[in-house]
Amino acid sequence: MDNDDNPMSKAHEAPRCAATSKRTGERCKGPAVSGWRVCRFHGAGGGHSPGKDHPSWRHGMRAQEWIAARAEISELVRKAREIERLLFGGAE
Ligand SMILES: [Zn+2]
Repeated sequence: MDNDDNPMSKAHEAPRCAATSKRTGERCKGPAVSGWRVCRFHGAGGGHSPGKDHPSWRHGMRAQEWIAARAEISELVRKAREIERLLFGGAE
């Protein structure tokens, strides 16, 4: 039997899945899906894009833009307090 004629020989040469088994600690021997580091079994081709379509989306108050906006607001408040302290003197 000639190995070059084996249609599976190409699949066996494919890059291996990067996942390791938690139970045995051994590398997954499955072929990685092209463009992915893992095999189909370990999540290649799956997943959701972030945003409203994500199943874990709740109310949008934790959306990344909101987190950034609130960080900016608290920074402004902090600066305003500092200016107030410089102008009128703090309690310190
Ligand atoms: Zn795998």
